[in-house]
Amino acid sequence: MKIFTYSKASGTAAQAIQEATNKTDSAYIAGGTNLIDLMKDMVLTPAHLVDINGLNMSSVTKLDGGGVRIGALARNSDVANHPLIRENYPVLSRALLSGASPQLRNMATTGGNLLQRTRCSYFYDTASACNKRTPGTGCDAIDGYNRMHAVLGGSAKCIAVNPSDMNVALAALDANVFVSSGSGERKIRFVDFHKLPGNTPHIETVLEPHELITAIELPAAGFNKNWCYLKVRDRASYAFALVSAAVCLQMDGSRIKEARLALGGVGTKPWRASDVEKMLVGKTADEKLFKNIADMAMKSAKGYEHNKFKIEMGKRTIVRALKVAAGGVA
Ligand code: SF4
Repeated sequence: MKIFTYSKASGTAAQAIQEATNKTDSAYIAGGTNLIDLMKDMVLTPAHLVDINGLNMSSVTKLDGGGVRIGALARNSDVANHPLIRENYPVLSRALLSGASPQLRNMATTGGNLLQRTRCSYFYDTASACNKRTPGTGCDAIDGYNRMHAVLGGSAKCIAVNPSDMNVALAALDANVFVSSGSGERKIRFVDFHKLPGNTPHIETVLEPHELITAIELPAAGFNKNWCYLKVRDRASYAFALVSAAVCLQMDGSRIKEARLALGGVGTKPWRASDVEKMLVGKTADEKLFKNIADMAMKSAKGYEHNKFKIEMGKRTIVRALKVAAGGVA
């Protein structure tokens, strides 16, 4: 690990941002569950850390007019177990509880979860070529061992998966991200927050330098009757998704009135399948429809030597998640 300096911010987000701006090569630290690993492996080498744990951004509150605001420092376990989330946004609670381990969820924050880095092993190995870690060096994953990599949204520069479970549920729920630059707050639609790799895989989000995530807001529609978060992985816990699907439906009997579908484990960003959602609306829920939807959702998928299986697995995951959601969850 490279030597770094450290300061603890208290007071307002604006003060923390000023502190980070005043230092060369600074980074924010909250839960640190990903950042510290990256620093130990010399993947990230910030010269200064601004600890933001003292900021007042940990609450989960109901919004006037419906919806919920989740502070960026709210811990994953607190969000997952909060009554407002469990009762109104069960797909988010389930997604959070399917990620990592209890110990990590107790530390990891909402803002940090949005920014967690890929688990591509070449990214963590500084002896490997990786355009995301060191732009312009190449990508050892494309012709290497790419079993965990993306089949949707990849480029010739990078096919790394966004590893978050929480992000998949937030994409389905149409969340908004609030970020501050110190002079004011701006709102970003969650589905626009992460970028596709294209030619610049090292730029993963639309955040500007030193902008700080302050909160997530969820719209009123939480889909607490017909929902499913299905995660397929190599072992029952503490494993990243091979494929995951967040489905939220509004049903009128057996007819679908509204549909949301987002995928994890297969995309270079949290993958909202908006185009196929429209094909579900107004239709009667049945397996034939769901199979067509799954085929369409994975139509543009591109497999590599070791991850081709994700295309069929993705289709089956979508069909099963749609069936569970349409059936209603007790
Ligand atoms: Fe790096 Fe992306 Fe290639 Fe992995 S897939 S080695 S993160 S450029």
